[in-house]
Amino acid sequence: MAGEARSDCLFCKIVAGEVPATVVRETETTLAFRDINPQAPTHVLIIPKVHHPDAASLAAAEPQIAADVLREAQEVATEEKAESYRIVFNTGTGAGQTVFHAHAHVLGGRGLQWPPG
Ligand code: IMP
Repeated sequence: MAGEARSDCLFCKIVAGEVPATVVRETETTLAFRDINPQAPTHVLIIPKVHHPDAASLAAAEPQIAADVLREAQEVATEEKAESYRIVFNTGTGAGQTVFHAHAHVLGGRGLQWPPG
């Protein structure tokens, strides 16, 4: 059921402390940690602690927590002193989603091209 921790989900395991992560911020509803394969000087993932497979299903089921994720993305960018930054929600394998637990990428600290690849 959406919202319940899943034993086969990497990010649920990070929330549970079963997989280590470099955590930079934590709230009651969210966790922010550094991406293991950074694509920019700042590359932090913001996740809801509850399990939803992608951003759209999170927003539909728990809009307040989706808003918390966005607020935390701003907080991370401020803490990292990233004046300009990008928030990315890859959705679906064709868009590059590899972990099916909703997450925002916060990328900054270098110039970012548009459109992305
Ligand atoms: P996606 O491709 O949008 O689903 O993003 C998943 C991200 O999770 C990728 O950028 C991976 O580098 C990152 N990732 C995978 N495993 C770990 C981990 O154990 N810790 C931190 N980041 C991870």
